[in-house]
Amino acid sequence: MTAILDGVGRLVVKIGSALLVDEAGGLRRGWLEAFARDLAELVNTGREVVVVSSGAIALGRSTLALPKGTLRLEEKQAAAAAGQIALAHAYQAALAEVGVACAQVLLTLGDTEDRRRYLNARATVETLLRLRAVPVVNENDTVATTEIRFGDNDRLSARVAIMASADLLLLLSDVDGLYTGDPRSQKDAAHIARIAELTPEIEAMAASRGSAVGTGGMVAKLVAADLATRSGCAVVIADGRTERPLRRLLEGARHTVFAARTSPRRARKEWIAAAIGPMGVVVVDDGAARALGAGRSLLPAGVVAVEGAFARGDAVLVRNRAGRTIAKGLSAYDADDARRIAGHQSDATEQLLGFRGRDEVIHRDHLVLLEP
Ligand code: GLU
Repeated sequence: MTAILDGVGRLVVKIGSALLVDEAGGLRRGWLEAFARDLAELVNTGREVVVVSSGAIALGRSTLALPKGTLRLEEKQAAAAAGQIALAHAYQAALAEVGVACAQVLLTLGDTEDRRRYLNARATVETLLRLRAVPVVNENDTVATTEIRFGDNDRLSARVAIMASADLLLLLSDVDGLYTGDPRSQKDAAHIARIAELTPEIEAMAASRGSAVGTGGMVAKLVAADLATRSGCAVVIADGRTERPLRRLLEGARHTVFAARTSPRRARKEWIAAAIGPMGVVVVDDGAARALGAGRSLLPAGVVAVEGAFARGDAVLVRNRAGRTIAKGLSAYDADDARRIAGHQSDATEQLLGFRGRDEVIHRDHLVLLEP
């Protein structure tokens, strides 16, 4: 495998509608089966892969015999509802064939913006990846309240990549990268292989272009690239139309790579450090304070007091017994539940709360140590 996947443990692959659905609205089954073999190769080399796939509306449109041309919002939602079931089934069948389990995850952009829903979605994706399944994500178009735009899945895939702390977001569509102009109309348009930083000049190069079945165009891809690279995720734009696009890419097919501007870990920690609030304080004993200092999570047993009223997912400060603030993190429990489980072993939480919550009050991934 070539450089593109060096050091990449977790990646998000975004599939545009044009790859999966032909002009007549039929599923390109052969392509999907070959892509599933690509995915299996990645999974079998120990990589964790999330797929963000478009195609529901394009598929559902033919299922419901909707007319050509622009659909009204409710027609798009109906098409998405009819198409998503076919899309999910197609992935399941193709991946089962190569021995890979998959799971359907439908998200709205709102889910990635609301902290509590974000944490839930993140935990589910994390669990699926740990179980070696491939989450297949699409926007939950049927409940989208605003216009569904082609290209939203570019943005959604960036949000998913950030949520999953992925090292790489691979945008597969019908273009092999960014050009200095539109390569279809400008003969002298030159391909750009690597972009270290997104400048206004580069954004200007991305004249919006789309295809008949629906891709977000370069503008949407740059928005996605900007979001992801700021959060520590590198982005690759490549042509997915050939069979086995991932293998071809690893063999050196042309693409544009956008370098990550930080690491996913650092980006998440910065985000928590800057998070609004804090809404409360968790006081911890000396053993827990030492454990946090050593990079571990905060367990209920180490909590001696809980102050304030906060909800699950809110930012809280962590203080030691001497009253010094040592960390800030996102609480996995609301204040009342945190008070109930304080001082108890993790395995007692189910009995104390009546549900099985997380083992940690603050997971180390959601915690930043503050300088003394
Ligand atoms: N979510 C839409 C679908 O599955 C596609 C949106 C997009 O192509 O960006 O049909």
